[in-house]
Amino acid sequence: MITIATDLDGTIYKGTELIDGVKESYKYLIKNNVDIFFITNNSSQTPYEIKEKLENLLSLEVELSKIITPLNILESLFADQTIKIFVYGSSNLKKFVKSINQKITNIDQADLILIGRKNKNEISKINLMKDFIQNGKDVLCLNKDLTFPSENEDLPGNGAVVKMIEDDLHINIDSLGKPDKYYIQYCRAKNFNFDYVIGDRVDTDIFFGKKIKSKTILVESGVKNFESTDLADIKLKSFSESVPFII
Ligand SMILES: [Mg+2]
Repeated sequence: MITIATDLDGTIYKGTELIDGVKESYKYLIKNNVDIFFITNNSSQTPYEIKEKLENLLSLEVELSKIITPLNILESLFADQTIKIFVYGSSNLKKFVKSINQKITNIDQADLILIGRKNKNEISKINLMKDFIQNGKDVLCLNKDLTFPSENEDLPGNGAVVKMIEDDLHINIDSLGKPDKYYIQYCRAKNFNFDYVIGDRVDTDIFFGKKIKSKTILVESGVKNFESTDLADIKLKSFSESVPFII
């Protein structure tokens, strides 16, 4: 059986719309026994919400276990313990953190600062996080994507705030997203072996595929890339063009 891992934003859909040809090619791949995993750095929706979104768009059932987001990695990382977390992010993210039995606290009491994405950034909170990080507080971020694609334009992502803090403090903040170590460790622990990794970003999808030694397919349907697109094994216009390479 062939197993593929495909990115979501910019590869399968943009905002609330499927990318042209995805529905037909997805059905065709499934019919031909290709095992399809969805790998995303998007953490503004829970894995369950992504499952529902995919099922609505594809008109097919999608297994929850086939969706891998930084929230799965967060859950598994602290599965055996409850820690106190200061969350910089959406109310949805806070709800998820509580649902996996972690405690949300003020920054001064927190064991960990978790940086997610906010629709409106709060400079005072970013400065506060900087102070605490500089004084040794542990920090993780959900991903380092500088932008993410919406229906019409690329919007600032989770990584914009992370990069600001990293540059100011001259540090590196570990991320729970692709292509970073925790995401890879999670896939290894679950024994996921992907023959192909498909995505629209070089710095996340293609780097991830390279690190886990999969064949990498870069599609042009998503964000603008700043790294060389030549790093990908195969370059295509969109997801649907990948079908003849996979089967
Ligand atoms: Mg993408």
